[in-house]
Amino acid sequence: MAWSDRATAQAAIVAAREAQPAWAAVSIWDRARMLRRIADAVQANRSKLAELLTLEQGKPMAEADFEVGKASDGFNLAADLVKYLEGRTIPTEDTTKRVMTFYRPRGVYGVITPWNFPVNIPVEYLAPGLAAGNALVWTPAPTTALVGAALVAAIETADLPPGVLNFVTGHGPEVGDEIVSNPGTDAIGFTGSAATGRIIARQAAGKAQLMELGGNGPVIVLPDADLDKATAATAAGCFVNAGQVCSSSERVLVHADVYDEFAERITEAARDIVLGDPRIAATTMGPLNNPAVAAKVAEHVTDAVDRGAVAAIGGAAPADNPSGLYYQPTVLREVPRDSLVNREETFGPVAPLIRVKDEEEAIEVARANRYGLVSSIFTRDLDTAFRFVDAVPTGIVNVNDTSNYWELHIPFGGISGKDSGVGRIGGRYSLEAMCDLKTATFTIG
Ligand code: NAD
Repeated sequence: MAWSDRATAQAAIVAAREAQPAWAAVSIWDRARMLRRIADAVQANRSKLAELLTLEQGKPMAEADFEVGKASDGFNLAADLVKYLEGRTIPTEDTTKRVMTFYRPRGVYGVITPWNFPVNIPVEYLAPGLAAGNALVWTPAPTTALVGAALVAAIETADLPPGVLNFVTGHGPEVGDEIVSNPGTDAIGFTGSAATGRIIARQAAGKAQLMELGGNGPVIVLPDADLDKATAATAAGCFVNAGQVCSSSERVLVHADVYDEFAERITEAARDIVLGDPRIAATTMGPLNNPAVAAKVAEHVTDAVDRGAVAAIGGAAPADNPSGLYYQPTVLREVPRDSLVNREETFGPVAPLIRVKDEEEAIEVARANRYGLVSSIFTRDLDTAFRFVDAVPTGIVNVNDTSNYWELHIPFGGISGKDSGVGRIGGRYSLEAMCDLKTATFTIG
């Protein structure tokens, strides 16, 4: 894969600026038709894209196929929803006034994406961005640029006008920084780490920003939980995509009354995972994506064990690990609260089990964290569930399901005051975020 540089990013921004007004002038119905053609093009290339996604990102084929399917759905969804992007008519005090609001494209939208879902996360911006009439300049994460290029090649077959979607590979601090800082971009959509998000927020000061950053669970298992459901959902939350999901079940707070039982069950679930070459159908967990994430996972597990946690299963890379990217599915018991796995995002196949004595302690541990993206609570009691929905500071609280549960049209994002981002993606919420709300006032009579 060839790397572009600042000059290429600048040229892409110029091309986007030139193309955007004509694209915004295309009727919404015709833009929706274009998005449906793109959805079909992604479907037509589904197996090729999924294969490349597995090769480059490392997730098993079934997960890759699911992701590409969702990407196609995302274009169809934006095609549906853009037709209902209704403004309002607003009653006024002054009887001579009529006031209306309209959604208008922001202009040129810069998009910067991570490597963990390198097909679907870009589409979370590309589909609503194009539907709304923006032109886009997108840069993918360097370790998954090839599948990004293949996605763009598929999109191109739908005959999108030149300059409306621009794809620039390269290093974030160069190409990404140019997209963010160049006055030619009007708005920035960023999904990635909190550390990079902070840099981008400063560099893009004054531009509209949609930021989807990291997360740190938690999952809370209470004594009245359906343990079969809680175990299966938490194991999925910890191990899907080898734990490299922003909504992963990064830490599991288990009530003392069911701690041992739950720990044994999730250890068995981890034992069932088939770690191996993601191109083989039987594999259910592949390697981590890159050396930095592999080093972080090892550091976090070692830190927890050094502080007194016990690995019930896993706790190390497998013996046969020439790439250095494989890590065993791991369950850590008796994890102390000061461990990195509790405080920070690990982004690996680790289920850290923290023992809590009652609901109050569960809420206290859940709240004491810099992240606030997604949490899960397992209980059969409706009052308890609502109490946790109110008390746990995350943008989404899933009751009785995996922390990874989400659908493309549901608002997704971090809660205020934490490090998990700003704004909401998902369905109509993405469309609104990628538009300016324009107010027109009329004086009559
Ligand atoms: P990252 O922040 O390292 O990189 C993300 C992107 O930013 C890459 O494309 C990178 O090239 C670019 N970048 C790096 N430095 C830049 C700079 N100075 N200016 C502009 N762009 C720059 O994140 P990552 O390791 O690729 O992804 C993992 C992170 O993403 C995790 O923290 C995860 O939780 C988060 N994530 C969040 C969501 C969500 O929806 N909230 C979804 C997926 C991943």
